[in-house]
Amino acid sequence: MRVILLGAPASGKGTQAHAVCDRYKIPQISTGDMLREARRHGTALGLHAADFMTSGQLVPDELVVDLIQERLDRPDTNSGWLLDGFPRTIRQAQIFDQLLEAHSVTLDYVVQLDVPRELLFERAIYRRMDKRTGQIYHLKYNPPPPGAELEHRADDQSGTVLQRLDTYQKMTAALLPYYEAKGLLRRVSGTGKPSEVTARLFAALGNA
Ligand code: AMP
Repeated sequence: MRVILLGAPASGKGTQAHAVCDRYKIPQISTGDMLREARRHGTALGLHAADFMTSGQLVPDELVVDLIQERLDRPDTNSGWLLDGFPRTIRQAQIFDQLLEAHSVTLDYVVQLDVPRELLFERAIYRRMDKRTGQIYHLKYNPPPPGAELEHRADDQSGTVLQRLDTYQKMTAALLPYYEAKGLLRRVSGTGKPSEVTARLFAALGNA
């Protein structure tokens, strides 16, 4: 199974990616996670990416393409993968297509998690992660247990969220017609309980 999961910030990509990866036993490859890790380690890449990330902009295409290329060279990707947060621009998608072709690998599905903008904003600003477990909570709808060590992503502050949503509309939404034309796109409603979204997602992947 080789799948790209597309969706705006806070559309539930991370949560749904976990469910798909568990079911198909494939690695979840998140460029956002890789960039945050690079920042935590203070690498040259992390420092370069930091300003773009904190202002809600996309980091330059070359940086993420290099990251993805290196990651897909690792042997755990032989059985498939799920990309979460990549590609995010038409240029990334085009370079990625060339990469797949060079490796004689085909993409099975591109799934879009569709969530209305008002909901995305609310999800992002109330989203918190337990630092110790990586579990994601929502302060209103899925409150954390007492004692959780909560972290609010710097780019989940309201001004940056609006910027990230705009960036998604301007840059990433163009990927929908791109993959639709290739016959790969499946649209899945991302509203409702996470388990309901997961069921719809599995159906879109053919319940294989
Ligand atoms: P995410 O966790 O996927 O929301 O990503 C967090 C931030 O990392 C984004 O707002 C971008 O600044 C950066 N980022 C992640 N993936 C990409 C990508 N494919 N292209 C450009 N920037 C990215």
